[in-house]
Amino acid sequence: MNQRWRLIVLWLLPIGMAALLAWQILGGSQLNTTKPTSATVAPRNTAISRMSYGRFLDYIEAGRVTSVDIYEGGRNAVVEAIDPDLDNRVQKIRVDLPGLAPELINTLKEEGISFDIHPPRTAPQGLGILGNLLFPILLIGGLILLARRSNSMPGGPGQAMQFGKTKARFAMEAETGVKFDDVAGVSEAKQDLEEVVTFLKQPERFTSVGARIPKGVLLVGPPGTGKTLLAKAIAGEAGVPFFSLSGSEFVEMFVGVGASRVRDLFKRAKENSPCLIFIDEIDAVGRQRGAGIGGGNDEREQTLNQLLTEMDGFEGNSGIIIIAATNRPDVLDSALMRPGRFDRQVSVDPPDIKGRLSILKVHSRNKVLEDTLSLESIARRTPGFTGADLANLLNEAAILTARRRKAAISLLEIDDAVDRIIAGMEGSPLTDGRSKRLIAYHEVGHALIGSLVKAHDPVQKVTLIPRGQAKGLTWFSPDDEQMLISRAQLKARIMGALGGRAAEDVVFGHAEVTTGAGGDIQQVASMARQMVTRFGMSDLGPVSLEGDNQEVFLGRDLMTRSDVSDAISRQIDEKVREIVKHCYIETVSIVKNNREAIDSLVEILVEKETIDGDEFRSILSSFTSIPEKERVTTTI
Ligand code: ADP
Ligand code: MG
Ligand code: ZN
Repeated sequence: MNQRWRLIVLWLLPIGMAALLAWQILGGSQLNTTKPTSATVAPRNTAISRMSYGRFLDYIEAGRVTSVDIYEGGRNAVVEAIDPDLDNRVQKIRVDLPGLAPELINTLKEEGISFDIHPPRTAPQGLGILGNLLFPILLIGGLILLARRSNSMPGGPGQAMQFGKTKARFAMEAETGVKFDDVAGVSEAKQDLEEVVTFLKQPERFTSVGARIPKGVLLVGPPGTGKTLLAKAIAGEAGVPFFSLSGSEFVEMFVGVGASRVRDLFKRAKENSPCLIFIDEIDAVGRQRGAGIGGGNDEREQTLNQLLTEMDGFEGNSGIIIIAATNRPDVLDSALMRPGRFDRQVSVDPPDIKGRLSILKVHSRNKVLEDTLSLESIARRTPGFTGADLANLLNEAAILTARRRKAAISLLEIDDAVDRIIAGMEGSPLTDGRSKRLIAYHEVGHALIGSLVKAHDPVQKVTLIPRGQAKGLTWFSPDDEQMLISRAQLKARIMGALGGRAAEDVVFGHAEVTTGAGGDIQQVASMARQMVTRFGMSDLGPVSLEGDNQEVFLGRDLMTRSDVSDAISRQIDEKVREIVKHCYIETVSIVKNNREAIDSLVEILVEKETIDGDEFRSILSSFTSIPEKERVTTTI
């Protein structure tokens, strides 16, 4: 609104007020219908959804209800419930009640749900006249508010105050229902956390000998490894309420909102102790203060300060334990890790093969598997999968099984689901033609190098069926629990990645090579560069020339400093190019020497569209000898 309009509105207000009052006094009793709105009547807001009384009881049983406000002498209520399908978001729902039943009150008490009964207030006689006046007063009040609102910019102080008053967006589960048995493959983390359950259940065991019970535990690990699940399991085992909130929800546009949420959260937690507070993605608030470009973020710092204050503000034996999760412990503010705060760190790592097997056991409990399907073989096929990936895998496989109208999940569906999770949705195969042949040569190139270079992982299958972005794919089975990668292996991987381009180059000529190798070449560049700068595998010697922290905005450093001089960085580029060039020459020569084998493999691949690893090797072995791959197979 511009200045002129604002003036007009301001002038109109008193005039309107006077006119309305005059109208009221003269003959305005027709307006009697407006009722006094007060807290004794449940807000009839159309935005609030409704549910039946029976449903409400179900919700209570499922532990979804967080608070109940009863109105009109128990005739209706506004319920706050969390919706697990919507990230545990809190919803307000209206319910019509059969009256103020003592059973209901007892249930609410038992479930530890906070409730409030707003007594019906009968309006005294004198209020009738006030009621008449209320309409104009409300109208004028509304106008004033409107004018004030338009005065301040959106997002200005006027609005921030309103947001500050909104309820904190945290979820509370009275009973998580998750037990340690539901979390598998992270036995070390579980052992560390079992003690936390005892802290919550029998604090006196520790306090009686003078031990200080830790307040905070930090779970560190990549996404999907089960951090949230572990936190819920602790609450479930200890039988205490679970408060959860995500770090990113603290951080709002408006300064002070995050801090007020933290205060609210701790207030509610103290009312419900013993309990567990879970803060997901704590790095969103807990980042090193004063970092980042533009002088840091006031809101975040205030929120973090509030969190630290609250943590210092209660005693360890008050029955509240705070568990936070992050996958970036390196960026956290050191103040968070001080004794008395998150002084315990538990790392939650992606599972090894045994871990994967036990996670698969947990998640296949409610699935129908074919008798011949062994969970071991799935565990073996899924190195690098986290718990969440595995849960997703079994679910995808179950969906595929249902879609194919089968009675039980077989290895076929598992295989398809694994491919889909790694490489995306399957597309429809290309029709025969030049581009299909070119893709076939490209993929056979990868697979050939993968088979003939000893240090390369063996080929699992080659396919021309597109998936995700890829037009064709060559799958390799990586060595299972290999922690260290040798120089020979890195070189082999570079050669394998170059195999596709080399085959295009040799078969179709330099002018015909395609963009299809773009992804391969990027990989090659990054592997070769790391060999030089991080792993000291070039003749620049065993020096680390680059840190691995490249995120400008997240870290403690304002900007990534380059530790190397111009001369060195020229040398690095030179070495990288040298490595790639050597590898490419070697790759091209392998392709040239096996042209006959490549041609026949391409014929078969174009016809069959997929060749599995064993078949590929048996065809190839009729042309040349294949080196034996060294593998360590873990026994489960
Ligand atoms: P994070 O919090 O570490 O990102 P979550 O705990 O949210 O991971 O895991 C997501 C889902 O993946 C869980 O609900 C569970 O179904 C499954 N999951 C993850 N890790 C495990 C595990 N170790 N054992 C069993 N299930 C797991
Ligand atoms: Mg999580
Ligand atoms: Zn490729």
